[in-house]
Amino acid sequence: MNADQGYAILFGIGLGLIAVLFWMLFPIGDRRREGEEEEKPKGFCPLCKQPLYAGERIRSDQTEIGDVEVQTRIKGCPYCMGPTHRRARNCPVCKNKVAKDEVILALSDPRIDRLKLSIKGCKQCWPQGF
Ligand SMILES: [Zn+2]
Ligand SMILES: [Zn+2]
Repeated sequence: MNADQGYAILFGIGLGLIAVLFWMLFPIGDRRREGEEEEKPKGFCPLCKQPLYAGERIRSDQTEIGDVEVQTRIKGCPYCMGPTHRRARNCPVCKNKVAKDEVILALSDPRIDRLKLSIKGCKQCWPQGF
């Protein structure tokens, strides 16, 4: 009687392993169907207002200040960074021009969500952050 039970448990483990292998064979998170490219933008570049889609990321540096604040220096998106791009870059707070080598600052609280940024401004309107 006990032997039957042992067999059942081993069989169960075997099935579990097969399930794990199957799961590993099919990468999750990349189940994009065709035609889904024309989706809504994931966000907008705060500097040049370019709508950004999946894979187009804003370049930024994050610095943790203690464990209560994260300072994010937003450099821009692929459309307004680098010497070949000529898009106008403006501070979303004071609307002043932001040079290509300048950044705008945003703060977030890592205890809530370090990616939930509150944009503070550029060197001109928020100099205390620089
Ligand atoms: Zn941009
Ligand atoms: Zn500003």
